[in-house]
Order: sequence, then C-alpha cells, then structure tokens
Amino acid sequence: MPNSFENSATNHNGESSLQLWERTISQIKNSLPENDFSSWFSRLRFGGESDGRITLYLPSAFFKDKFDDSFKSIIENTASELGGRPYTVVFEIRKESSIPQYIEKTNETPNNRPSSEKPAVQKTPQVDDLMFNPSYTFESFVSGDNSSFAYNACMAIAKNPGSAYNPCLLYGGVGLGKTHLIQSIGNYVRKTTSYKVVYVTAENFTNEFIQSVNDNTLQQFKNKYRKADVLLIDDIHFLQKKGGTQEELFNTFNDLYDTGRQIVFTCDRPVEELTDITDRLRSRFARGLNIDLLPPNYETRVAILKKKCQEKGVIFSNEVIEYIASNISSNVRALESCLTKLIAYSTLLHKDISLETAKEQLKQIINSNNDASVISIDLIVKTVATYFNVSQFDLKGKSKSQSVVLPRQIAMYLCRKLTDFSTTEIGLEFGGKNHTTVMYNVQKVESKLNSSDSELSSLVAKLESQIKTEARK
Ligand code: ADP
Ligand code: MG
Repeated sequence: MPNSFENSATNHNGESSLQLWERTISQIKNSLPENDFSSWFSRLRFGGESDGRITLYLPSAFFKDKFDDSFKSIIENTASELGGRPYTVVFEIRKESSIPQYIEKTNETPNNRPSSEKPAVQKTPQVDDLMFNPSYTFESFVSGDNSSFAYNACMAIAKNPGSAYNPCLLYGGVGLGKTHLIQSIGNYVRKTTSYKVVYVTAENFTNEFIQSVNDNTLQQFKNKYRKADVLLIDDIHFLQKKGGTQEELFNTFNDLYDTGRQIVFTCDRPVEELTDITDRLRSRFARGLNIDLLPPNYETRVAILKKKCQEKGVIFSNEVIEYIASNISSNVRALESCLTKLIAYSTLLHKDISLETAKEQLKQIINSNNDASVISIDLIVKTVATYFNVSQFDLKGKSKSQSVVLPRQIAMYLCRKLTDFSTTEIGLEFGGKNHTTVMYNVQKVESKLNSSDSELSSLVAKLESQIKTEARK
C-alpha cells in the first residue's frame, strides 16, 4: 500500500490529498481484477499533489510504461470523480520506492559449466530484478503461426541456456512481442536456476557505459555484464552510430561467448539492414540463430485477445473481440490498448460493452493504427510521382536521369517508413529491384535527413502527411 507523501494540504472537500489518494486507490482496488492490482499497484507510491497534479512513484521504466499505458486513465478518472475536480497524474521512477519480491532459486548446476564455476545463489533482492516484468512469461505468450518458431527457440534457450541456440537474435516490428519473449527467457531462468541473468535495453547499456566512463567506474560496469550467465539485450538497433558502446559490447560478447554464456538480442530489423554498425559486431549478431517475428494472423489475434481478457478477468462478447481483431492487424500492443480502454470505460461507468460502444470508444486507436495497413505502395508512388511531375512508370523503372532518381529514393524511403513491406517486397514493386538497392536508396534519404537537409525534411514531411490524409479517405 502507498506509504509516503510529500504534500498533505487539504483540498476543497476539506480532505488531504493523501486521504483522497487512499480513497482513490481503494476504489480502484475494488474495480480491477485481483491479479492486476496485486502485481502492479503494490509497487506504486504516492509522491504528493499540487494544483491537481498527482505525482506517483514507480520502481522502474517497465512499471512506468505499464502505468502510462494501462492505468493512467483509471487513476485520473477515479481521483477526479472522488475529488470533485479534474486531476492529472504523472509517474516518476524512484528505484528505492519498492523492494522487489525475491524468487527462491534452486541450486541447479549448469550442465555445460564445471561446478566450481557455479554462480552464487542470490541472497538479497537486486535492483536489476526490477528490470524484469513479472507478467512477461511463456505462459502468458500466445504462440501463433507468426511466432511459434521464436517461441520454441526461446523456450529451448530458457531450459538450456548457453547450449541450445547461442547467440540468438529475435527481430521484428514494434509491438510484436520481442521484449515479452526475451524477458520470458529471463524470468524462466531466474525462477528455475541460480544463474545470474542480466536484462538491459541497448539504450540503457549505452547510457550506463557513458556514465561509467565519466565516473571512472568502468570496471564495475564491465563486471556487471561480464559476470552474467545469461545476457539479454533488447533493441540493439539503438546502437547504430554509437561506436564506443559497440566496441564495449563486442568485447563483452566475446568474453561471454567464449565461456559458453547465453546471449540473446532483439532488434527491430534484420541485421543486414542495420547501418553504422561495425562489421565485426554485425557478424556477432548474425552468428547463431536469427529469428523473424511476424505480425499475428487473424486467428492468433483473436486468441491473444481472449487470453488477455482471461488474465484481466473480464468478458467481452465475441463480436467485440472480432471487431478489434479485424481492425488492428499489425501490433499486439495496440490490441492490448483497445482492451484496456474498454475495461476502463466499462469499470467506470458500470456498463457492458456493446459493439456500438466498442466502435465509438476505439475510433481513435484504430484510426491511428491503420495508417500502416491502408497505405499502399501504389498510393505512395502515385503521390510522389504527381508531386515531382514524373510518370509512375519512370518512378518505378530503371532510368538514372536526375529528374527521377531523387523522387524514386524518396518514394522507397516512404514505403519503408509508412508501410510494413520489407525491402524485398518494395524492390519487387519497383520493377524487380533487389533488396540491397532498396536499402541503399532508403539510406541515401536517411543520411540526407540526418545531415539536417531542412528542405528535404519539409518536403518528405509534406508528402507523408498528404499520403496519410489520402489513405484515410
Ligand atoms: P516489442 O518488444 O516487439 O515491441 P512487446 O514485447 O513489448 O513488443 O509486446 C507488446 C505488448 O504485446 C506486450 O504487452 C506483450 O505482452 C504483448 N504481446 C505481444 N505478443 C504477444 C503474444 N503473442 N501473446 C501475448 N501477448 C503478446
Ligand atoms: Mg520491445
């Protein structure tokens, strides 16, 4: 339960903000499924209230993301309803604000490691435990056509770290379950063995590395990562252009790999599409098993929605579930956002959700997610060709004339940015070009945009907005 506060001034109901907060939390407790409440809200601390702004502390970025996505509106709505005035909520990360639960571990010895090297059983809760989201497990992951290979490989790694598939790289678009799967490996290994498991996003790895160089604590940084039995690095595309960090990761990789430790990476694209990565690090990423995580098909989307409803203890009619599954196709996170929105609505208004209500409530989420699914390569080609006054045939063709080369590069760049088509598929649409040609053209535009070519930036932004507007019609 919340136990600290910084501000106890009374509000216009004559009630202190802490009292209001306690009423708010107890109402939310009654309206949320028991599991949700106990797993998430026990880590929440009241930080104070000022001018209708309630500050709440959470122990890690995971919790913050979860609260921003799933619980922010229920907290704001409940506090506003009970306090008789609008309240907004801000979440802040305070690591010391929660003691993580310690999971009892067995003393199992890794089979590929001499017992003298057996990692010590952790006796005290570690701050790094907070990097693990307890709800990311194999049980809560729905394995479908798109993900069964990735799921099975991750499960094999979790059961036999260091020997099954090492290293392993999972790649795919946003919201497809990369973090969920890589963390499931971590949670499973932590629960069943005494291995030291380290999970880090490439962004945090970079920040910690820079910080350790500045603070002269590089040795501690190296120890943390080189003592891992299982190292899980999420979102390695973040390392592009970060030469120093790449070098450090390369050395960490070699150290761990040579001693049979397990390494798993995730990335938002195939390794060969990463730019500004040293060849030797790229070759490490590409070594071992590379697995593609694809968007779920309709049946899997329905299964995911049903599973999530079960976990949250809510029941929605089949027509509502089917409506969501047919309107959100490329991102599981967006499927979840739809459920969260409907749950908040029905909890607050004590109303069942009809298909009509679902359509009304989900309009915004569905519109903003449909950009990718309704934008076609044809639409992009047509818009760009019209703008530059060249023919669509030339734009897709082989002509190297100046008047068509830049428009073609821009069109390919927009196809990559605004659709889910791969570079291979885009190449086929552009007169059968191969994927490296597409990548080259896309990168040309990216590097011009990165070098602050403001004329090009505004042109690309203008075309992008024209395409999106057209796609919504
Ligand atoms: P990514 O890291 O690929 O962007 P995440 O792992 O963060 O995606 O997934 C986004 C959300 O969707 C998470 O809440 C995750 O639990 C959920 N999710 C994704 N795929 C599945 C799945 N197959 N079964 C259940 N939940 C899933
Ligand atoms: Mg992720």
